[in-house]
Amino acid sequence: MAETTIEDVYARKVYDSRGNPTIEVEVFTVGGFGRASAPAGASTGTHEVTPFPKGGVAEAVKMVNEVVAQRIVGMDAADQEAVDGVLHEIDGTSNFSRIGGAATLAVSIATAKAAASSFDMPFFQYIGGAFATELPYPLGNVVGGGKHASERAPNIQEFLIIPVGAKSYSEAIEACFKVHKEVGKTLNIYDKSFAGGRGDEGAWAANISDEEALEALTKACAKVQDDTGCRIVVGVDVAASSLWSPEKKAYILRREGKIRSREEQINYIIELVEKYDLRYVEDPLHEEDFEGFSYLVKSVGDKALICGDDLFTTNTSRIEMGLSLKSANAIIIKPNQVGTLTDAYRAIKTSKVGGLTPVMSHRSGETEDNFISHLAVGFKCPIIKTGVLGGERVLKHNELVRIEEALENVKSMAGLPSQLKR
Ligand code: PGA
Ligand code: ZN
Repeated sequence: MAETTIEDVYARKVYDSRGNPTIEVEVFTVGGFGRASAPAGASTGTHEVTPFPKGGVAEAVKMVNEVVAQRIVGMDAADQEAVDGVLHEIDGTSNFSRIGGAATLAVSIATAKAAASSFDMPFFQYIGGAFATELPYPLGNVVGGGKHASERAPNIQEFLIIPVGAKSYSEAIEACFKVHKEVGKTLNIYDKSFAGGRGDEGAWAANISDEEALEALTKACAKVQDDTGCRIVVGVDVAASSLWSPEKKAYILRREGKIRSREEQINYIIELVEKYDLRYVEDPLHEEDFEGFSYLVKSVGDKALICGDDLFTTNTSRIEMGLSLKSANAIIIKPNQVGTLTDAYRAIKTSKVGGLTPVMSHRSGETEDNFISHLAVGFKCPIIKTGVLGGERVLKHNELVRIEEALENVKSMAGLPSQLKR
């Protein structure tokens, strides 16, 4: 038997950063071990795989321990496509509704980690090989709203920063921490009752408007940039599917008790890009509006990354559709949206060939697993979106600090797309 032969698979219920149950899987090979747990979204896209079967986490755990284990014990953990293929075969549906995408992802990632450990290799190196030497730039949310905070918080879900001037990952993330602190000190100007509350991803949650959030963030970035010399740019994740009402055919602004038509939303986004020099705009429109996205790419795509999250759901056929319509120039990669490492890899490959910048991303409900840090480096994604603060976010940054140290002399920061360099 080879060192990478799978000897045992074991699943259990654990908890995520919102205190919700999720699944953790351990894979034991002859010469190694891997453990992985699945994160969970709140503003999930319609086209994501089903996270759990009808019976919830308990049923997913049972499926892995009783059905999946039997099939993959004896397989080679280094043959990722074969293992992921068996997961598809056992499930038999197109959206993992029998086993649940959370369970399949945990099995898939734990298998890859076990293979890496059998070869005595760091996970990122197992994934990316000798040329996986570039560190991604962190993209983190400093102020939050939408489904991640209360009704009085902004309509836009995330107000984000990228420290594009950083020369190392440590410098980059320190700049993010400074901006987060600085914004926290100024939110009382806009919201007298602000008591330091934070949303699901550690971003400040205050009773302020979208524009007030952007103003606070822009000022804080300028100050930190002055203090540190590190250039920082601003972006947003509108998560517009969460605002869209298919019945009213309009975007609902719950804070103001108003609605916005599709055309008004498009113009609003263009205005924000111009006024606040936004360099990154995620899900500005709802998940079925491929044409609206194309219009935005044509209008402001040379100034800002127009990034699809719910639009693509890391799904290769949706990516192909987006490429044919030129709907985006960047894509969020969330491995749990597709349920296996192989599917996530295919999505990244298709995206890169088509010229989309891949952004490796966390979910709002995260676990103690740091696999996205390794995947960002291994799959050579120039950006990692994993929040700024909160233990479950910081541990991903700390793992990147360790990876940076492990790469010592060969490391460099990733090359950035033109929208972030200008
Ligand atoms: P989610 O949100 O993890 O709650 O889906 C994150 C995002 O929209 O990027
Ligand atoms: Zn998003």
